[in-house]
Amino acid sequence: MAGGSEHEGSGGGPVMRGLIRESLAHLAPYAPMPPIERLAAAVGLPVERILKLDQNENPYGASLHVQETLASYDRYHLYPDPEGRAARARLAAYTGLPAERIVLGNGADELIDLIFLLTIDPGDEVIVASPTFGIYAARAPLFGARVMDVPRREDFALDLDAVVCAVTPRTKLITLVSPNNPTGNAISQEGLVRLLQLGPLVVLDEAYAEFAHRSFLPLAREFDNLIVLRTFSKWAGLAGLRVGYGIFPTELMPFLWKIKPPFNVNAAALLAIEATFDDFAWVRSTVVRIRVERGRLYRNLRKLNILQPYPSQGNYLLCRVLNGEAAALRARLAELGIMVRGYDGPLAGYVRISVGRPEDTDTLMKALLAIAGRFARQG
Ligand SMILES: *Cc1c(COP(=O)(O)O)cnc(C)c1O
Repeated sequence: MAGGSEHEGSGGGPVMRGLIRESLAHLAPYAPMPPIERLAAAVGLPVERILKLDQNENPYGASLHVQETLASYDRYHLYPDPEGRAARARLAAYTGLPAERIVLGNGADELIDLIFLLTIDPGDEVIVASPTFGIYAARAPLFGARVMDVPRREDFALDLDAVVCAVTPRTKLITLVSPNNPTGNAISQEGLVRLLQLGPLVVLDEAYAEFAHRSFLPLAREFDNLIVLRTFSKWAGLAGLRVGYGIFPTELMPFLWKIKPPFNVNAAALLAIEATFDDFAWVRSTVVRIRVERGRLYRNLRKLNILQPYPSQGNYLLCRVLNGEAAALRARLAELGIMVRGYDGPLAGYVRISVGRPEDTDTLMKALLAIAGRFARQG
């Protein structure tokens, strides 16, 4: 990924000397996106000139009420509530599910780790349906799991029959992202119910639920093997604070409380959950604006003959690059300060573009038009 990381040690010495776990020796590095300061420095532009359409963040920012609440809080010297009771009460009201079934995480990412920690014995299997959010396949092996990839169909629909066939006595988790990142499509209720009836735990990642036509959270009332993950990173503009939550089967709760790091969600993050719901009308209005803009961006991109966008229920559009290389297009956009997400492997010919504000769409379209002539010829 762009920028790389300073943590990609070659790992020779400590492995040889048996200092680290043998199972980690051959792990591929996972390189998250660099921060905006580094992106800006890499292309020689000031941070204000960077249009960040690469991580599905909310372009309207954190709510002013959240910012003011955090600025005026005077108990940062005290440890936060390890149970996050006040925040969980607000989430219970929001989700309609009891607070007793809600666990907060340092981002949904941390909850993914906790689920693996909770369920995986060495050699257990975790089903993923690629292309999808890479964290599942990247983290599962750290806990000793075998990743069973069930590739999606050509149109990126889940291959339900293949998922059913992939379940074995060692299957602990079926992980599903809906709407899927980066392809934007959602699972069907019938499909989800069919997988829930198989027995293993189903982890339904609804990071983008607020942008979607519907949520499957109500199924958590019916099925005691469904875990639903959510986050404040995308719709609520709080990616930097790291706030995620999960709705878990009641039976799992005592075990989750045993393994959760006690102060995993900090005081600012807890406060931000409450303040978000205090300012819900405004935050919600940004979600509506993004959903509207998603349609406009889609229609605009369709008019160009550079990119073929896929319909999406998230705040991003996966686009196939029609003429030429996705990497070259990303590089040209980056020179203009516009960052979009690129991929290796099967999606090497695609980019994912986060939905911004109307003016961001205009900036992007202008850049794409400028690039278009040159780009078409070189492809
Ligand atoms: C962004 C994202 C997450 C991570 O959310 P955080 O709360 O920021 O850790 C989880 N799942 C999917 C599918 C995502 O796209």
